[in-house]
Amino acid sequence: MPNRLAVDGGEPVRDRPFPTVSNASGRRIGTPEEEAVLDVLRSGQLNSTVGPVTREFEREFAEYYGVDHVVASGSGTSAIHLAVAAVDPEPGDEIITTGLSDAGTVLPILAQNAVPVFADVDPASGNLDVDAVAARITDRTKAIIVVHLFGQPAPVAQLRALADPLGIVVIEDCAQAYLTTVGPDAALAGTVGHIGCFSLQQSKHITAGDGGLTITDDVDLARRARLFADKAWPRDTDERSHLFLGLNYRMTEMQAAVARAQLPRLAGVVEDRQRAAALLTRTVAGLDGLSAADPRGTVYWQFPIFIDPENAGGDAPDYARALAAEGIPANGGYIVRPLYLTPVFTERRTYGESGYPLLVPPATAVPDYAPGLCPNTEDLIDRRLLVIGWNENYSDDDVADIGAALSKVHAAKRP
Ligand SMILES: *Cc1c(COP(=O)(O)O)cnc(C)c1O
Repeated sequence: MPNRLAVDGGEPVRDRPFPTVSNASGRRIGTPEEEAVLDVLRSGQLNSTVGPVTREFEREFAEYYGVDHVVASGSGTSAIHLAVAAVDPEPGDEIITTGLSDAGTVLPILAQNAVPVFADVDPASGNLDVDAVAARITDRTKAIIVVHLFGQPAPVAQLRALADPLGIVVIEDCAQAYLTTVGPDAALAGTVGHIGCFSLQQSKHITAGDGGLTITDDVDLARRARLFADKAWPRDTDERSHLFLGLNYRMTEMQAAVARAQLPRLAGVVEDRQRAAALLTRTVAGLDGLSAADPRGTVYWQFPIFIDPENAGGDAPDYARALAAEGIPANGGYIVRPLYLTPVFTERRTYGESGYPLLVPPATAVPDYAPGLCPNTEDLIDRRLLVIGWNENYSDDDVADIGAALSKVHAAKRP
């Protein structure tokens, strides 16, 4: 029985590990990074307020993306916190976002005392649905945080068309979307909204272990973001003052040294991920009940597969379990539950016992963070979204093994 599934005791398709973002097998880090870190150490200037490297990296990233302003910080979460703080909501103001993302997308909203309002997603991509966002807008909506999930382009131009007449700021979470392109003119994700946010965490396309970047063409948003990352200390004047409530979110010179050396590698990383993804996309196209992401503009932080359980003979958790037994890095749902069903929301665990700002007042209304709030989001996480771990160092043979395992599981599950 050569085709018995490994989950039922058969021979697994794959017995060697795949390259992974969790160690050197799936990361591109070499002599330029080593030398840059040593240079920083030998200079004795480890902090970006005295050393030149972080400012140079910001300038280089600004040029790379063709934007006026880049502010570096310590993480992708802080990059989004800078963006929210730059918008400067009143306590209880609303920011619309998705429940299908990393928590780093939404926690900064609460940290800035605004209320996260969750809109549902497009079942074909997991990205925010424009009509669902429109239905959530109120006179207290100050911003929209849109995620380009797995590096698939979200409908950010349509969201701007919705937001601009109302004075609502569009923040793009590009943590998974370096060099994602949006729309027919292939604009870079992160430059279509008012502010773009990137992460340099271990698992992203380029990494410094942790790190974040906030980009914008708006001089006022940029100035507030920069001040917020540095205790609102106006270092461009001589005064040791603190202009508003800000924290220390500065990137260190060693982080910047590594990140800066990673930047020239980025285009190759994206290209190699896309080349490998094209092979698996072809395999998935032949499997009834399974569909791959639209490759246009997508940069494959991971490789999402959308499952129609009735036609596929099983749901995403079934497929993920079977694939894992075959030796394939796969998971069902991406996250365990929508962000709005985590305790920070369901139990309002914010500041002490207060529940602030999820109260009326300061809010005008607080969403019911309960099952049923965003049905497409819940269906994707519970049944329809299969996620294959992806990497720039996958060989054609690696992708062939993934395709073979997927075809094997599909053949066994389909009646
Ligand atoms: C990784 C990630 C974040 C958070 O970035 P950190 O650097 O881990 O803080 C935010 N949003 C998305 C979509 C992410 O993938």
